[in-house]
Amino acid sequence: MLNFDFSGKNIVITGGIRGIGYSVAKLFSSYSSNIVLGYRSDHDLAESVESEFSLGNSKVKALCADLSSQDECDRFMKESLSFLSGIDIFVHCCGIRQDAPASMMKNDSWNKVIDVNLNSAFYCSRIAVKKMLKKRFGRIVFISSVSASVGGPGQSNYAASKSGIEGLMRVMSREFADRNVTVNCVSPGLIDTDMSKDINKSMREFYLSVIPMKKFGQPEDVASAVAFLSSDQSSYVTGQILKVNGGMDVS
Ligand code: NAD
Repeated sequence: MLNFDFSGKNIVITGGIRGIGYSVAKLFSSYSSNIVLGYRSDHDLAESVESEFSLGNSKVKALCADLSSQDECDRFMKESLSFLSGIDIFVHCCGIRQDAPASMMKNDSWNKVIDVNLNSAFYCSRIAVKKMLKKRFGRIVFISSVSASVGGPGQSNYAASKSGIEGLMRVMSREFADRNVTVNCVSPGLIDTDMSKDINKSMREFYLSVIPMKKFGQPEDVASAVAFLSSDQSSYVTGQILKVNGGMDVS
């Protein structure tokens, strides 16, 4: 029988109060784990999610930080580690899109997407992994995207950030493998969240025509993959990209 057990685990999730991050947090919280939920701005939602998951002995904190800057990444991780007194699992879920054709892409849009999606993954996981290496245990899961391998038009910044995450994951996985710290990516296809809600009807129809399962995924589909890669049961899995995309990208 395959039973996950995250009870007592200390977990940091960036982008943890909505969408995919919320589903990941919900799954972990059902095992009485201790969780920090990163968020950028919605204090009311953060408060309600924090109290929703603060059950029994679990320590749960929603922590506001704009992870587009290194200083904020450092502060966020410092406060997270101090609240939890350690870290076992780091899930990097925060991300944004600012699409435009490459020829028209503004510097601001390029830099912002690289900062939020990629640079924060490096700055935060660099801090997390130091604790994990000392403890000889850790799980790092980065959320990539189908865009890294497919390269959707208008997404030069987004695709570059997600390809960067996959490269970072490959290197970290090799560097830390002999100390029982695994590093993997989950790569979602199209998932029903705030990020995909601005897709217009004709694009939605186009995407459905190229997804073999003929439907968008749900955040819970991604959360299950994150849970596997965060579990003791995946101890011999590192440096991998687990695709959750309804069969869209089989490369
Ligand atoms: P979402 O917009 O609901 O969540 C994005 C999260 O990132 C939010 O919690 C937001 O607060 C956080 N965030 C944004 N900017 C931030 C900043 N500057 N500092 C700190 N946090 C910030 O969308 P989602 O679909 O849940 O996205 C989660 C992850 O999944 C992202 O990395 C996204 O790229 C990836 N993804 C989503 C899809 C999809 O179709 N929804 C597909 C592939 C990959």
